[in-house]
Amino acid sequence: MIRNGQDIVSGSEISAQVCIIGSGPAGVTAAWHLQKAGIQVVLIEGSRYVGSGDDQREASWPDKTLLYEGEAVGVFANSEPDFLIQPYSGQSSNAWERERILGGTSTHWGGQSRPLSAITFEDRPGYPGWPISQTDLDPYYKQAVDFCRLYANEFGPEYWAGVLQAEVPALEGFDIEMYQFIGPDDRNFAIRTFPDGTTLANCGVDVILNASLQRIEHTGGHVQRLRVASMGMDLAQPPTKATEFFIKADIVVLACGAVANAHQLLLSNAGNEHDQVGRYFGCHPLSSGGVVSILRDYLKPAQSRLMNGKTPAGKWYAPGTDLYVEGRFVPDSATLRREDIGACWFWAGGGQCYFEMAPNPASRITLSDRKDKVFGLPQVHIDWQLSDLDQRTYEVTASLFKASVAKLGGQAWTQQWPDVKAQMTVNGHHIGTTRMSSAPEDGVVDANLKVHSIDNLYVAGSSVFRTPGISNPTFTIIALSIRLADHLRRTLGQ
Ligand SMILES: Cc1cc2nc3c(=O)[nH]c(=O)nc-3n(C[C@H](O)[C@H](O)[C@H](O)COP(=O)(O)OP(=O)(O)OC[C@H]3O[C@@H](n4cnc5c(N)ncnc54)[C@H](O)[C@@H]3O)c2cc1C
Repeated sequence: MIRNGQDIVSGSEISAQVCIIGSGPAGVTAAWHLQKAGIQVVLIEGSRYVGSGDDQREASWPDKTLLYEGEAVGVFANSEPDFLIQPYSGQSSNAWERERILGGTSTHWGGQSRPLSAITFEDRPGYPGWPISQTDLDPYYKQAVDFCRLYANEFGPEYWAGVLQAEVPALEGFDIEMYQFIGPDDRNFAIRTFPDGTTLANCGVDVILNASLQRIEHTGGHVQRLRVASMGMDLAQPPTKATEFFIKADIVVLACGAVANAHQLLLSNAGNEHDQVGRYFGCHPLSSGGVVSILRDYLKPAQSRLMNGKTPAGKWYAPGTDLYVEGRFVPDSATLRREDIGACWFWAGGGQCYFEMAPNPASRITLSDRKDKVFGLPQVHIDWQLSDLDQRTYEVTASLFKASVAKLGGQAWTQQWPDVKAQMTVNGHHIGTTRMSSAPEDGVVDANLKVHSIDNLYVAGSSVFRTPGISNPTFTIIALSIRLADHLRRTLGQ
């Protein structure tokens, strides 16, 4: 059921066992798994727009501007000053970073999926260990494979070389990490069909569209209720506040994306006893220009086919689907430990490369002095800061890549750091800001994703990551949300 917040009488109170805020992959995955366990779930989504196609995203941009506008400074000032509200461009190559729409950013993500590597969870200088390990997540990654309808719970090159009748290259100091791309029909969490044949609209979750969280009202370490507001539904007009109502739930899950999760906690003065909320904003920085060029080839045709996900007959798609696979070169664990650097991935054929930004407390979200024009709430101020560790990660991995390519008879060219930095964008993967920690002084949520100081408030999404790792984040967001649903089911005794 999808209803509209504008139809809910001002001042009224809705009750639920669990209230989830946000309809991106984090919120929808948790909601579907909880309702499957017989738990009564209300999911609220701030957007006024029912559809989630390209035309709806374009139409929703004025709302997004008014609600998400704020100040983006630091590295953003150079190359991505409109990070918070990037306009819809109609071109898939242009990464518009955040959405205020049913389905969240899953309405246009790439579907590129694999688990985080074991080393991501390890404690290394500059890259603090997580309170959970890859082994803790393994059963949930397996469930995420089924939930996302991936081809197999296999991400290693040997398995895929078999499927593609290809060959595994040996690039000294580098592993090959295979990515499965979720099929287009399963990518948009607002409209995809779940494994049991239901969708978000009819799976039993009470979805309230046009319901923007205003404040998490909490006292004595417990969320008492949520204050929620709707906007007028004349879509030709800029939105204005229409109604305001309350939701009282046994458990609340914040799933608004890494920027808005921190923003909402700061607005509600929740979980910030140790000044940790909003800190460690990170990502997989990406230079908008070409970074790596392959000047002389270094792979045999059968090896290139593995990296490009091709059989001898051409591009491979899982039978009857649009799901495909590709490979990336990533420094192996021994190299990362020896060099004390973050991870980085390279396309075999050159182009751009992603790297793992080191957690940095100065890279952070705070509240701006300016207020939004719809609800009058303080806007986001985000300061993206890179550190010397990031420069080192890029320079060391680029130099290792060139040397290893040369050993195979090839030649690679890589751009210098100042040029890379000058064109840096966040690249859609927003990480940190409410990170997981064993001790409350060192993060915002515990290993179960519960806010340390509040007994019934949880956070879902990549804001809880302690380090970015190098795998694209959403598959881990989904695995963590399945794990969270499992934990909440037990907490509620169901
Ligand atoms: C161009 C692009 C390509 C990408 N490709 C990939 C990829 O290939 N692989 C990958 O792993 N990841 C990719 N990503 C990242 C991926 O889209 C995100 O990791 C994922 O969408 C995050 O899910 P989420 O549910 O945490 O947040 P979101 O998807 O951001 O959803 C948050 C939801 O919360 C709602 N919301 C916000 N504030 C409020 C409020 N106050 N009240 C109510 N609702 C609110 C929003 O409207 C939104 O619906 C890509 C991102 C971009 C931009």
